[in-house]
Amino acid sequence: MKYRSHVTSEIDESIVDGEVRVAGWVDSVRDHGGLVFIDLRDHGGIIQLVLDPADAPAEHELAHTLRNEACICAAGRLVMRDPEVVNPNLATGTVEVRTTELEVLSRAGVLPFQLSDENVDETVRLRHRYLDLRRERMQRNLRLRATAVRAMREYLDEHGYVELETPVLTRSTPEGARDFLVPARMRPGNFYALPQSPQLFKQLLMVSGFERYYQVARCFRDEAQRADRQLEFTQLDIEQAFATREEVYSMVEGLFAHVWERTIGATLATPFPRISYHDAMLRYGSDKPDLRFELEIADLTDAWAETGFGVARGAIDAGGVVRVLAGPGAGRFSRREMDELTDYAREWGARGLAWFVVEEDGSLRSPVAKFLSDEEQRVLLERSGAAPGDAIFLMADTEATTCRVLGALRTHLIEILQLEPSSDWAFAWIVDPPVFDWDEDEQRWSPNHHPFTAPTDESLDLLERDPGAARAKAYDVVLNGFELCSGSIRIHDQDVQRRVFEVLGIDRAEAEARFSFLLRALEMGAPPHGGIAPGIDRMVMLLAGEQNIREVIAFPKQQYGIDPLTDAPAPVDTGQLRELSLALDLPPSEAGQAGTSAAVGAGRDG
Ligand code: ASP
Repeated sequence: MKYRSHVTSEIDESIVDGEVRVAGWVDSVRDHGGLVFIDLRDHGGIIQLVLDPADAPAEHELAHTLRNEACICAAGRLVMRDPEVVNPNLATGTVEVRTTELEVLSRAGVLPFQLSDENVDETVRLRHRYLDLRRERMQRNLRLRATAVRAMREYLDEHGYVELETPVLTRSTPEGARDFLVPARMRPGNFYALPQSPQLFKQLLMVSGFERYYQVARCFRDEAQRADRQLEFTQLDIEQAFATREEVYSMVEGLFAHVWERTIGATLATPFPRISYHDAMLRYGSDKPDLRFELEIADLTDAWAETGFGVARGAIDAGGVVRVLAGPGAGRFSRREMDELTDYAREWGARGLAWFVVEEDGSLRSPVAKFLSDEEQRVLLERSGAAPGDAIFLMADTEATTCRVLGALRTHLIEILQLEPSSDWAFAWIVDPPVFDWDEDEQRWSPNHHPFTAPTDESLDLLERDPGAARAKAYDVVLNGFELCSGSIRIHDQDVQRRVFEVLGIDRAEAEARFSFLLRALEMGAPPHGGIAPGIDRMVMLLAGEQNIREVIAFPKQQYGIDPLTDAPAPVDTGQLRELSLALDLPPSEAGQAGTSAAVGAGRDG
């Protein structure tokens, strides 16, 4: 017991009059009428130390010199506080330690910010992350994360899944992002890719007969960072052999129910509702709808087939759609606010947005109402589900643009109308997405999930004939507007795998060059298999009630992948580059930031 006899969370009135020894950080120091009070903080909470010059003059003197966040160790007798100084906000608020021993284990210099300051610039917080992580909120978040991961392991171990590791230095695993490459010193000119996911290895483990696998896996994707995305992130990677979609669904529902119960004591309603990808796009304009809100998009295209209303007519004639979304209470928006919403829609690619306010008597007020027949107005009102006081927003365009814009508008309206969510946790399965999406820029098909996803049995005939119509045995879990995980039943038949590669423009030679190991494995008794990969960062962000995954990652990166703590990425010296047989070829604007033997040599080689 050199440093402590109790963690503060173990201290309560039952040990009053006993000796305690505690260790932690100075949360605050106060001098009141000659007595010095220190709030000592450890991972269990806070305990008040009181130093009386009459009890311990030297310690009292020392206490005066302490700064916040110094690391200290103290001992003394636990006593009841005087009733008038009881702190009901503190678990140990009725007691205090009459301190007779005080040792400074490590002094604290000038702090870049006070822990109590909630408004510190994020870069400053990350640059001093070791200090930032001392905050109660960050301690809570990261401990919650640990509890969540433990709960995942508990559940999967219990259900016969084996935790296995797969390589980090590997070949490209396409998940639709750019690879991070690592030059191979021993094979000059060759590169490892960091895994975008362990996808191919987990499939190989199924061929190997492990049948049920999981891994808390770090994945790397070189893509734009957002509040819910990091260049490196952690997912709970799962795969199982002989699995149907139904089996995956119930396993995942059980997993989430267990994690929610263990972390925040919430009981989830299972099974989760299922919505087809097609319906999600139609009704919510998104494949990750926030289902805590009831707002739904409605289609008018068939009912308005004969319309003379210009924009709608034009869109329908061009093979597009007419869709509407009602905003509850949005009838109160001023003309200017309506214009702002139109601008918002334009930012998302709309050419325009028509609006209709539903008056008390059920009539429609709108600059364009006069272009609509009574019947068109009736259908508009009926299908949108709008009531007096609401506003209806109408778009006519291609299906893709209409989905995108109304989906974004739905999210925006929820925010600006400050709508009340109908539940805390709106989980849903989004199922049967397309196998392929048409990539306009590249003018070719790309995988909607990844190239190893099995088409539905009915879609096998469509692969070459009508790739856009082929549906996949794939599924996502969405929660409160976030995609929490994606997964699928995989292709375990070499022929089907080759056909999918072909549609994706990967011919035989390229398939062999990139994926021969997979194709060979599929020739050797590969069982049917499927899996999923919940994103742990996002999951914990939602459990913690945070808006940003950086708040649940110990050492996250900022924009452009920069880590303000270590200053990574950093230049390397020319010697290191030479060893890797690499030479830099930078545009002049960036050359100054890169490593040169002169610039870096001084710092690194000394
Ligand atoms: N590999 C997929 C991903 O990272 C997940 C899966 O299909 O299991 O999104």
